[in-house]
Amino acid sequence: MKKLIIIVIAAFTGQIIWATERPNILYIMSDDHTSQAIGAYGSRLAKLNPTPTIDRLAKEGILFENAFCSNAICAPSRATILTGQYAHTCGVHDLRGGIEGGRQHLAREMKKAGYQTAMIGKWHLKKEPADFDFYSVLPGQGKFHDPEFRIRGDKPWPKNLIKFPGKHSSDAITDQTLKWFKEKRDDSKPFFLMHHYKAPHDYFEHAHRYNDYLSDVDIPQPKNLIESHPASFGSIATRGYQDELIPHIGTSIGNRNPRRSYAVDLPKRFPQDFPQDYDPSKLTDKQIQKLAYNAYLRKYLRCVKGVDDNLKRLFNYLEETGQMDNTVIIYTGDQGFMLGEHDYQDKRWMYEEAMRMPLLIRYPKTIKAGQREDAIVGNVDFAPTMLEFAGIKTPAYMQGRSFKSICETGIEPDNWPNEAYYRYWMHMAHHDNPGHVGIRTKEYKLIYFYGADYKGGNQTPPAWELYDMKKDPLESANLYDNPKYAKTVANLKQRLVSLRKRIGDDGRDFPETEKVVQEFWNYDAADREKARKISNEFLKRRLQTLNAPSKRKKK
Ligand code: CA
Repeated sequence: MKKLIIIVIAAFTGQIIWATERPNILYIMSDDHTSQAIGAYGSRLAKLNPTPTIDRLAKEGILFENAFCSNAICAPSRATILTGQYAHTCGVHDLRGGIEGGRQHLAREMKKAGYQTAMIGKWHLKKEPADFDFYSVLPGQGKFHDPEFRIRGDKPWPKNLIKFPGKHSSDAITDQTLKWFKEKRDDSKPFFLMHHYKAPHDYFEHAHRYNDYLSDVDIPQPKNLIESHPASFGSIATRGYQDELIPHIGTSIGNRNPRRSYAVDLPKRFPQDFPQDYDPSKLTDKQIQKLAYNAYLRKYLRCVKGVDDNLKRLFNYLEETGQMDNTVIIYTGDQGFMLGEHDYQDKRWMYEEAMRMPLLIRYPKTIKAGQREDAIVGNVDFAPTMLEFAGIKTPAYMQGRSFKSICETGIEPDNWPNEAYYRYWMHMAHHDNPGHVGIRTKEYKLIYFYGADYKGGNQTPPAWELYDMKKDPLESANLYDNPKYAKTVANLKQRLVSLRKRIGDDGRDFPETEKVVQEFWNYDAADREKARKISNEFLKRRLQTLNAPSKRKKK
C-alpha cells in the first residue's frame, strides 16, 4: 500500500520528486593525477600531505585500490569514460581520436533521464561537446596560464572563445564551475557535471603562488628509481638483447635515455628549480638524476596542490548550499603516471603506476565512510556506474558494468570479473613505449609487448612479462620464464584470448599488427631468436636517428 501511494505522488508531482530522490553527480577528473600523489593511497609521498581535500573523499567514502584504465593515455581514457566502450570499439585508439555529438553517451543518457548536464575544463576529444546542456572546454591540451575556453555561442564550433588573462587554468576552471552553479543551475532537475582539470599534466606549470611550495623538501625517491633496471626486471622488450635497449625504451628521469630525459629537459625549462651553480659536467649520473627527480616532483606536486586547494573552494560551496550530501562526488585521474618508478616518465605503460587510476567516491546516503575496496573496476565501468546512481540501466551498447552495488555493500557480485584488459597502441610514440596488450587480475599481471605500429612496422623485440602483484607490487621480477609459474602463464594467456574475444579486440582494424601479435604469442625458441634480431635492428635504426642531426651539422 505504502509503495502504491509513493508511486501515485510521484506520478502527480513528476520532475520535483525525481529531483529530490535522485542524487546529483559531480565527476571530477584531473589530467595525469596518479594515486602515488594522493595522500589517502599511502605512498612514499603521503607524508608530504599532498591532497588533504581529496583525502576527505576517502575518509568519508570509498577508495578503490584496483581501478584500472584500459589504455593509459588521455584521449582514449576520456573516450572510454564517456562512451562506456573500449578504445577499439569507440574508435579512439590514440590522441588523434574524437567523439562527436550523438556518441557522447554518458551525457546523452543523463540528459534523456532528466539531468541537467555540463562539461567544464579539459575535454580533449576534438569534437564539440554537443550532447551537454552547457560546456566550457579548453581547446585541445589548452594553456596553463591565461587560458581560453570554447563555449556554445553565435558562431559555429570551435569559434566562440572566452579568455581568462592572468588566471591559472585550475583557478579558471573552478571559477567557471562556481559560476555555472550560481547562474545556470536549474533546481528542478538533478545535475550531472564533469569538472576536469588540465593539471598536473606536463610540463607542470603551476600557479605562481606555489613557487616556494616544497622548495626546501627533498622528495622521497622510489627504490626502483635509485636502482631502476635490476636484472630481474623487464624483458628483452624493455631491455633489448643483452640490455642493449635499456637507454632507448621508456623516457627517463636521469640520463638513461639520450633522446628524451628530465635530466636534459628540466634544467632548460625550469632553471629556478635547480641549484644556481648547476653544472652537470661536475656531477655523477646519480646526482643529476636526483636533482631532476626533485625538480620534476616539485613541479608536479605544486600542480596537485593547486587542484586540491581549488576543490576545497568547490566543496565549501556545495556545503554552504546544502548540496554536499545529496551529490555523488567522484574523484579520479584519466590514468596514472610514472613518478620516477623504474626511471620512467609519463604514462602509457601497463606498469602499475600508469595503469592504476585513483578512484574515490563519496555519497554518505548510501556509501559507508572509510572503505578501501580491492575489487577490480575499470574506466569502461565508470559510465554504467554513474548511470545507475542516476537510476538508469546500463545501455546494451556499453561494454562496462556498474559497480554501484560494490560501492554500497563492499561486496562483489558473484559474477564480477577478477580481470582487467589493457592495450596501448601508440607504439614508440613520444615516450618510447612499445605497443602492448595484457591482463591484470588481483593476483597477477601478464603483459605482452608485441612491439609493432598500426602497420606491423618499426618493430621492437617482442616479449612477455609476468608479475606477482601480491608478492611483488613494485613489479621488480618478471616471472614469465620461471618454471614454477608455467601453469599460471598458460592460464592467463588463455584468459587473455577469451577476454579479447569477449570485448571484441580481434585485430580486425589493424590486421598487420595482429599478424605480429599472433606470430610471437607462443614465444618458442624460434620466436626468441627472432626477438634478438629485432633488437639489433631496432638499435641500429635508433642510433642512426640519434646521430643524424650531428652528422648534418658537420657537413
Ligand atoms: Ca592524461
